[in-house]
Amino acid sequence: ANAESQKETIFDKIISKQIPADIIFEDDKCMAFNDVNPQAPVHFLVIPKKRIPKLDDSTEDDSSLLGHVMLTAKSLAQKRLPNGYRLVINNGPDGCQSVYHLHIHILGGRQMNWPPG
Ligand code: 5GP
Repeated sequence: ANAESQKETIFDKIISKQIPADIIFEDDKCMAFNDVNPQAPVHFLVIPKKRIPKLDDSTEDDSSLLGHVMLTAKSLAQKRLPNGYRLVINNGPDGCQSVYHLHIHILGGRQMNWPPG
């Protein structure tokens, strides 16, 4: 693993319960919790427990993990947001990524705008 993949972020502290979060789902591979600064009436994050800094760093070896994270996001979203929702992955500076631990945003509970800008 390279140096970047060793860097701990705030999400590692949420995974290890060193800092609290409003956790809505957890299994051995992933965790879902509400975003502390919600951009919609419903805004939560689904993250792999494995430390992958950004989507760019994922590989074929992560295929099953990424599928699991995506399907977890779907299951949680489908239950709470029957009228639809949006998934977002920010990658790198131009993508406005601020926490370098891969995560999917799930946003809903209002009409979303397109293009997002
Ligand atoms: P990014 O911009 O990296 O795609 O999104 C990071 C998200 O994590 C932001 O929406 C931000 O509000 C959220 N976030 C940052 N720190 C914390 C935290 O300590 N707890 C929770 N629940 N969310 C956080």
